[in-house]
Amino acid sequence: MAKVVIRNDAFVGLISSCVEVYRKEAFGIVFGYKKGEEYVVKEILPFQTARRGYTSASLKPSKEKALNKILACMSKNSIIGDYHSHPGEVYETLSGEDVYDIVRRKRDYISLLVSIKVASRYQKWKYTKDGLTGTVGKYYFKIKAFEFDYDRASINQIKVECPIISKLNKNYKEINKKTLKD
Ligand SMILES: [Zn+2]
Repeated sequence: MAKVVIRNDAFVGLISSCVEVYRKEAFGIVFGYKKGEEYVVKEILPFQTARRGYTSASLKPSKEKALNKILACMSKNSIIGDYHSHPGEVYETLSGEDVYDIVRRKRDYISLLVSIKVASRYQKWKYTKDGLTGTVGKYYFKIKAFEFDYDRASINQIKVECPIISKLNKNYKEINKKTLKD
């Protein structure tokens, strides 16, 4: 079974990026590598262009190619996918445009979807059937990952793991107290 492991730095970047532009839609690319069935996300890069509102273009293949070339000179990582957020109360699942974006991708490409909204209460991070959920500060998140299965021509939701969540949950009470004071 394929899965996505989001390393700590990438997780912090992902959460910050989605909070920064809230209530707009965040978009960016994810870097890392694939080993066997496992995608390892090591870094994320938020994009200033495109993806505002629920329906707009993502990274163009020509731009992606150019970026990969530059990255090859500086980093061992390459582009393995993209991410975007769905802010507010609605759309915790892929839109029609999202599906269109994914199916025109090459093999071994993942899309992360981060639903973000203002939390009604504090909640520890946990893995659910429908993604990784939890709160940071006043925001609630649900992180999902998708990959396109060429052989079956279907989009699969795949498991997301983040090593940082055990640390977040361990410091849960302190984080809670601090945030409540603000
Ligand atoms: Zn979307």
